[in-house]
Amino acid sequence: MKKRNIRNMDVEWSYSGERGPEHWHTLCDWFAQGAAFPDQSPISLSSISVCGEKAIEESIAFHYEQEVFSEKEFKNTIHFVPPNTQSYLIFQGVEYRLTDIHFHTPSEHTLEDIQYPIEFHLVHMNDVGQNLVVGCLFELVEGENKFSLLKELIEFSQRTHEFSFDPSIFLPEQRSHFHYVGSLTTPPTKGPIPWFVFQTVQQMDWGLVCLLKKGMLEYNNRPLQNKNQRDIYFVE
Ligand SMILES: [Zn+2]
Repeated sequence: MKKRNIRNMDVEWSYSGERGPEHWHTLCDWFAQGAAFPDQSPISLSSISVCGEKAIEESIAFHYEQEVFSEKEFKNTIHFVPPNTQSYLIFQGVEYRLTDIHFHTPSEHTLEDIQYPIEFHLVHMNDVGQNLVVGCLFELVEGENKFSLLKELIEFSQRTHEFSFDPSIFLPEQRSHFHYVGSLTTPPTKGPIPWFVFQTVQQMDWGLVCLLKKGMLEYNNRPLQNKNQRDIYFVE
């Protein structure tokens, strides 16, 4: 395949075929640079691979609030983007603003060797452009749950694609999580990216996922990457 020497958002990539994950690094120099970071994501997470525990004070503190999100389809998934970025978290004394919420089906990270139907990524960025991602795994259930409201909001905003909600809806009550350093899971797959993946698998309305997946790729998960000698921490 011809290498395209451009750095922009126009390079097409996908999850299968000759633009699939195993070829991403060949599609342009920008992707090649990202893929050169050795510790890629996603990885399999399990309590036996944890190298140590960290106290919750050393981890992340969420300061999420209700705000307006725009729903946009690009790069093989649906994104909820908050134009005003009021929600943020603090990690190591640094503020990271919530810039994007999107999902992968099935999950990209596995927990104790189990792949779940869907994984949401809460993407954050600090003032110098560094990303930090929080991963939330879900199983799908039928009937009312805390996401039914979000489903209604999306249904009622088919014209404007704008609605207001509190992104805390994606956070489990029990906040114990795995923490490691990896990469973005979509091109340019750059690192280092601090990752936080909740141990609690939550439940999501199956109807909401059907609504979000309408007309989308059936699957959009990057395969598991080599863990190398990485330190993986657990925060109780
Ligand atoms: Zn993602």
